[in-house]
Amino acid sequence: MNETTGADSKAGCECVKIIDAHCHLDGVEDLARILARARAAGLCHLVVNGLWRAPGDFGSALDLARRHTDFISATAAIHPHDAAQAGEADFERVRVLAQDPLVRAIGETGLDYHYNLSPPGVQREAMRRHIRLARAVNKPLVLHIREAHGDALDLFVEEGATGHPTQVHCFTGTPDEAQSWLELGCHLSFSGALTFKNGEGIRAAARLVPLDRLLVETDSPYLAPVPHRGKRCEPAFVVETLRVLAEVRGLSVDEMAAVTTQNAIRLFNLPPLLSAPLRGEASP
Ligand SMILES: [Zn+2]
Ligand SMILES: [Zn+2]
Repeated sequence: MNETTGADSKAGCECVKIIDAHCHLDGVEDLARILARARAAGLCHLVVNGLWRAPGDFGSALDLARRHTDFISATAAIHPHDAAQAGEADFERVRVLAQDPLVRAIGETGLDYHYNLSPPGVQREAMRRHIRLARAVNKPLVLHIREAHGDALDLFVEEGATGHPTQVHCFTGTPDEAQSWLELGCHLSFSGALTFKNGEGIRAAARLVPLDRLLVETDSPYLAPVPHRGKRCEPAFVVETLRVLAEVRGLSVDEMAAVTTQNAIRLFNLPPLLSAPLRGEASP
């Protein structure tokens, strides 16, 4: 505990401007209410990952970014889970999407050896292609790494990506793995897993990150933070992760919101947001 904890009560008021640096909104039926609750919780922007869902289908992320330019940015990629299902035309589609100014990052790509829903070799090849694309279009990279940090770090270096603006999203690795990514110039992004009772290793990693490379995210609809654990996650819940990150780093929630929001604006080249007044959802 620290003496700034009193500022926690400010989380959720309109003076706090927070960015959810990684979420998913495909398939939700109550989108307008989810966006309204996000604004009410103090969020000023969401980075919505637009991922391959079926041949030719990358979901609604870019469409949402077009309809809510000030509030939503999109990314585009083929998730490592889907790397073996997607075809050449889908990789070509990612290259086209990557040119869109509202697609602010390439991702999420990476390696997930926990599920191995695509064979590891196919995941590695897809990760290489996304890294090359991100470098070619000069946009940041969003990495999803689970139980694969060693291979992912090697591949990232082999591809010459050291120093390329990169978000290692939903970081759940060890402090040593955090240190390795930090040495390559990456940002680490923390999800609700930071708040879990068994998340002490993740909190130890969060203590190592330079303040200018910290991000917060929900990865909604997954990984709802305490005290919402078990519920469907949504961007408004990022406030709870921010609260724990602030406590871990001995900052007030407002200070941590300012730090992570500035980092997200810089990393994703977001338009100036903080002066934009909060407003209700316009009907489509
Ligand atoms: Zn992910
Ligand atoms: Zn994700």
